[in-house]
Amino acid sequence: MNIIFLGAPGAGKGTQSAYLKKQFGMAVISTGDMLRQSVNEKTPIGIKAATYMEEGKLVPDSIIISMLKERISQPDCETGFVLDGFPRNLKQAGELDHMLHQKNKSIDLVIYLSVNEDDLVDRIVGRFVCDGCGKTYHETLAPPKKEGVCDVCGHEHFSKRKDDNKETIQARLKEYHRLTMPILPFYEKQGCLAKIDGMRPPNEVTHDIVKVVKEHQTC
Ligand code: AMP
Repeated sequence: MNIIFLGAPGAGKGTQSAYLKKQFGMAVISTGDMLRQSVNEKTPIGIKAATYMEEGKLVPDSIIISMLKERISQPDCETGFVLDGFPRNLKQAGELDHMLHQKNKSIDLVIYLSVNEDDLVDRIVGRFVCDGCGKTYHETLAPPKKEGVCDVCGHEHFSKRKDDNKETIQARLKEYHRLTMPILPFYEKQGCLAKIDGMRPPNEVTHDIVKVVKEHQTC
């Protein structure tokens, strides 16, 4: 199955994608993670993308679309993948359809995690990730069971995303409304959009996601 997660920053796309990877062994493609790695490694893509990311703006389509095209051509995506953070606008959604069509494939399911945006800033400002395995935590809502130690891999180093601060979040939300929200009707028309309330505890959200994945909606 090829699945897309849509939702505002902090809606839980990363957490739920990680679950699908663990449970169903699906390849997870997070364009944000790929870009952050490029920024850390100071690759030509990373150097170009860094300013946009720091300002909470979308990285130009030309960069992100070719990056995605290369990634979905890799063998681990043959049997299906989960997209977290792509597409972010209608141009990207159209290009994705085109790319998949050329491979005789399509998007099977688009999961839209709806959230109350008043709560998003707290969710985002408090989050941090394990440097070892990438598991996401939250200072008050979801801290590690043992302080300073990752529940999953036992690593003791964590980091915060540079763009998870109040100012950048406002810019990211603005981009989300202006450019990403208009994708919803695009997939609704294709009949593959499932809306899930992302405000509940993560395990309840996961339960509903597994249900729709099993129902295997096809565009
Ligand atoms: P994310 O981790 O998905 O929140 O993405 C972090 C940042 O990476 C975004 O604020 C954008 O600057 C950039 N980014 C990630 N995915 C895309 C995309 N599909 N198109 C454009 N920019 C992206």
